[in-house]
Amino acid sequence: MAEQNKEWAVGIDLGTTYSCVAVWLEEHCRVEIIHNDQGCRTTPSSVAFTENQRLIGDAAKNQAAINPTNTVFDVKRLIGRRYSDPIIQDDLKLWPFKVIADSDDKPMIAVSYQGQEKHISAEEISSMILTKMRETAEAYLESGVKNVVVTVPAYFNDSQRQATKDAGTIAGLNVMRIINEPTAAALAYGLDKRAKCVVGERNIFIFDLGGGTFDVSLLSIKGDVFEVKATAGDTHLGGEDMDNRMVKYFVEEFKRKNKVDINGNPRALRRLRTACERAKRTLSYAVDTTIEVDALSGSIDFCSSISRARFEELNLDLFKRCMETVDRCLVDSKMDKSDVDDVVLVGGSSRIPKVQQLLQDYFKGKELCMSINPDEAVAYGAAIQAALLTKSNKFVPNLVLLDVTPLSLGISLKGDLMSVVIPRNTTIPVEKKKGYERSEDFQSSVSIQVYEGERKRASDNNLLGFFNLYGTPYALRGHPLTVSFSIDADGILSVIAEEESSGSKNGITVTNDKGRLSTQQIMRMIQDAEIYKAEDQKYQKKVQAINALDDFVYMIRKAIDDVDNSNKLHSRDKTKINMAIAEARKLLDASQQTETVVFVDHLNEVKSLIEPILRIN
Ligand code: AMP
Repeated sequence: MAEQNKEWAVGIDLGTTYSCVAVWLEEHCRVEIIHNDQGCRTTPSSVAFTENQRLIGDAAKNQAAINPTNTVFDVKRLIGRRYSDPIIQDDLKLWPFKVIADSDDKPMIAVSYQGQEKHISAEEISSMILTKMRETAEAYLESGVKNVVVTVPAYFNDSQRQATKDAGTIAGLNVMRIINEPTAAALAYGLDKRAKCVVGERNIFIFDLGGGTFDVSLLSIKGDVFEVKATAGDTHLGGEDMDNRMVKYFVEEFKRKNKVDINGNPRALRRLRTACERAKRTLSYAVDTTIEVDALSGSIDFCSSISRARFEELNLDLFKRCMETVDRCLVDSKMDKSDVDDVVLVGGSSRIPKVQQLLQDYFKGKELCMSINPDEAVAYGAAIQAALLTKSNKFVPNLVLLDVTPLSLGISLKGDLMSVVIPRNTTIPVEKKKGYERSEDFQSSVSIQVYEGERKRASDNNLLGFFNLYGTPYALRGHPLTVSFSIDADGILSVIAEEESSGSKNGITVTNDKGRLSTQQIMRMIQDAEIYKAEDQKYQKKVQAINALDDFVYMIRKAIDDVDNSNKLHSRDKTKINMAIAEARKLLDASQQTETVVFVDHLNEVKSLIEPILRIN
């Protein structure tokens, strides 16, 4: 598989519940979705901390029920947000792990790791998942991988994008580009159509409902150009919300039936949630299903059933919210429903029949396109983009991607008025200038506050950052200044204010935002990531040494029995062997306190003592 000295670049879909990594294989002219060490094509976006080790992916998810308070998931819902955000406050009630605020109102996940309480940011957890995806790719490609394209929901704001990029930096990756998930899915879809020789101009509507986020985009594909016409979404709507609804519903039922409230019992909630998620998936093809959790609380078993109709009723408002977003996107694109050629389903939750029915009704009975795998399309598209950005790749289809900015960007004027410099759904990269005037006489400086959002009152929008422009001190009201906004291909914003008369200039690459990481914090986290990695490797080595000694002791025992049976063993040798075994057992029983080297040394010692006697290989 390996191509020596090749600079690989992979695409990573960093999902709320699952992540996926893919690579463009030049020699085969196709994308490969890379399976992980469990043979799965997607990996749970979970990280767990235990007394001894850190687990990522399937290993973390599999032990969640026995270690709920230290098994972290859903960090995509936290990333780039503040602790006081009402959305976070709502989520906190359902997460079994603890989230606290640091002094900057940044949410930090509190876990117990190796007997100590650690406070970890969402960026660090995401970096651990990215590292796992990188290792998955490296194992498959048999080569180092540094360059990645990471996807984010189209509706992620500037801080969420920056925070995702920071997660890549902490993982030691070169994030070549951040691209929007529905746009990546469109690339996958477009390539699929080309492969099937469907050419000509097509307008495609991507409906991407995942675990925690919802995005829609309308694109037009004209030859090699993929142009996003409009995008809309909700960074906090997905399958997990439906799981939450089911959990609440069954918690109430359990309370009614057994007079026991399992709220506040993280283990019970975690086990119920797992059962609910499974039931939800079943309801996508069956009309009813049962839920069974043994000993949910104490010795009380829980057994119940739920119909598809009840599930739909519990979530109808969420489904309707999806449709409102669909409508907003179409209105923004100024296109008619009938102009849409294909409606493409992406994201695991797009499999829900009610969602499909509402969508089909909205598009007047149009067949929905399910030809691309909804779990893999985003990573597939990201891999194409990664190949496009790698100059050495000669055989990638020569596609051009024109994406848009999801939210309007501007500054606040006197009276808290939002002045939009870049309207939403403007194609990126983009640079726009706008002229303003001083609102007061003799201001020593002008404060520029940068916002994103659609509300007329600036403070109702999201404050991205602020800075001061120190220009002519004695200028009068009406004195002119210019503000320039530029958004790069990752969707990340820089703002510069300039006063021509004095030549004074100042600006930001939105870094003043509370909750964002400083360069020093990122550097510290990079060092911490190395420490985590070293600890993981150390633990792995220790487990290997313990297992090797344990296996050897087992083998000796068996060998002694065999030799003993034939009465060939000298009693002096037997004593020696039994003493060595006893010593090994003592070490194995106290494995926590024993260093790796002690196991390795003892194994070597026992081997050299015993092998000549038993002739064990
Ligand atoms: P994604 O973020 O695209 O990986 O989507 C993950 C979400 O899709 C999770 O909330 C899953 O529970 C949900 N999901 C996956 N398969 C199904 C299904 N067959 N029916 C309903 N939801 C599903």
